[in-house]
Amino acid sequence: MLAVRARALFDGVGPGLVERPTVLIEHGRIAAVQPGGTPVIGAEVLDVGAATLLPGFIDTHTHLAFDASTDVVGRLTDADDDTLLDRIRAAAQASLAAGVTTVRDLGDRGYLTLRLRTETAQDPAAGPHIVASGPPLTTTRGHCWFLGGRAEGVDGVRAAVRERAERGVDVVKVMVTGGDLTPGSDPYSVQYRRDELHAIVDEAHHHGLPVTAHAHAVTGIREAVTTGFDTIEHCFFLTETGVDFDRRVIEEMARRGVTASLTLGALPGGPPPPPHIARRIPSLVTGLATLREAGVTMALGSDSGIFPVKAHGSYPHGITAMTDFGFTPAQALRAATSTAAMICGLGGRKGRIAAGHDADLIAVGGDPLTNAAAVHDVVAVLRGGVRVG
Ligand SMILES: [Zn+2]
Repeated sequence: MLAVRARALFDGVGPGLVERPTVLIEHGRIAAVQPGGTPVIGAEVLDVGAATLLPGFIDTHTHLAFDASTDVVGRLTDADDDTLLDRIRAAAQASLAAGVTTVRDLGDRGYLTLRLRTETAQDPAAGPHIVASGPPLTTTRGHCWFLGGRAEGVDGVRAAVRERAERGVDVVKVMVTGGDLTPGSDPYSVQYRRDELHAIVDEAHHHGLPVTAHAHAVTGIREAVTTGFDTIEHCFFLTETGVDFDRRVIEEMARRGVTASLTLGALPGGPPPPPHIARRIPSLVTGLATLREAGVTMALGSDSGIFPVKAHGSYPHGITAMTDFGFTPAQALRAATSTAAMICGLGGRKGRIAAGHDADLIAVGGDPLTNAAAVHDVVAVLRGGVRVG
């Protein structure tokens, strides 16, 4: 038995902090959360002093196979599988050190991330708990085609989903629109026909798998929501010239329970956002408030790996970015923990400090509900009850 004591605790839901808690951990799980004064007999004690305990962060969108260099596509294409797997391991370690105890990987090559999933399931110190999609479904020369997930036509996409089910993926990822990373693909136009999207969703749900859509643009979001996708990645309602938080699409998301996996945050010190992005920020703040008021469930992903400022381990910057985008610190912390667990299919098991949940918890210096920047000062990480790093 391990007893973790701290000045305060945010349980992943809130609204406030629990003062002076003791978290009892046994066999990798949280056995109980008790008032701090309770005597603990026969337990090893870890006292993190003035720090605040939080559930470990859950990154709903990462790419462990991308190395956050200035040429991620070239570096990935040139690497053989062993080299790539070593990079995936290093990326996982960097995430864990930043307090990310679960990641949902939404695009690798050759299902390599599933190998690391086995490794981190056996050894919590090897990296975060992993939820993975394998290579995303895409079209000929479509977004991220170089990851090897090309699938087209109704029969083709159904076969691709079946292959993923056989391989044991946790989620099916579809490049519904193009993306900036892939020369020649268009982030504002839909890559798939509606019958193909319907077939993907139908086949995935038949195999008990959730299905998530890459879509920055309102065109792709609309198509994914109406064809029955469970989650929208990015979900910024972009148009070629600005943003269009289409009320009808937002209401449909709320009605159907379609969730959003926002990809926010970057390391400080990088180049300022290009003018076409900077110009959109005020309308993004208003638009995300519209999503929130409509009751759309939103969790936080990083998209780490794709650029140097999106290094693995940059996840906490997304939490502070959420507060810049109009969320309260408590809303941002929920998006990074309990809500993220739900989107990853791990509700009831991760994302909360509560009896029966996995003992994935972290300690940060200070009070993150008063000052979200406290999340950058991670002083302890426990994964499956094991202190790591
Ligand atoms: Zn991504």
